[in-house]
Amino acid sequence: MLKVNEIFYSIQGESSNAGLPCVFVRLTYCNLRCSYCDTEYAFYEGKDFRIGEIISEVNKYNCKLVEITGGEPLVQSESLILMKELCNLGYDVMLETGGSLSVNDIDERVKIIMDLKTPSSNMLKKNFYENINYLKPKDEIKFVIGSREDYDWTKSKIEEYNLSNKFTVLLSCVFGKIEPLTLVNWILEDKLNVRFQLQLHKFIWQPTTRGV
Ligand code: SF4
Repeated sequence: MLKVNEIFYSIQGESSNAGLPCVFVRLTYCNLRCSYCDTEYAFYEGKDFRIGEIISEVNKYNCKLVEITGGEPLVQSESLILMKELCNLGYDVMLETGGSLSVNDIDERVKIIMDLKTPSSNMLKKNFYENINYLKPKDEIKFVIGSREDYDWTKSKIEEYNLSNKFTVLLSCVFGKIEPLTLVNWILEDKLNVRFQLQLHKFIWQPTTRGV
């Protein structure tokens, strides 16, 4: 059984798969409380689903790309079984994780999008840096930037762990906190080898719209 907050079909808003149609399985619960969280409704709300029931729902959309998200999906260990079963069925599976729990046991066919939490999230101490050793070249590391301090910290971590040479590194803004142009200018000034991204869904729909 897994506690599921929502299952919906939309456009992937982030990562190098941004713009592609995608089925999202949002699991309930999160062990973090980021200052900028936009999915607090997933902390507790949800219904119990058997893994087979989740897969039946996903099948309805006839869409190859599936993202497991939250909340923090890895709080529920059964999420590992769900991801494996979806891979076995031929789905391209992505996982969005906050980076505080180990990604070591995740099926290697899954593309992991892992946050490293920046200072303004107030969750800096929760980063589990060992995870960097478990990531594969196709995985992506995401930094959500809310201030110049966040940006400078991000730069130092990219350098310390040589991240740009190992993975796709994603930089995005805390929505409404800093202007996209500000972050883009910083990236260009420093010639950072990263991928800037916007949360597309927040520009297509009203930023607070759920299920998109
Ligand atoms: S990890 Fe994600 S879901 Fe959890 S508090 Fe942070 S932003 Fe919200």
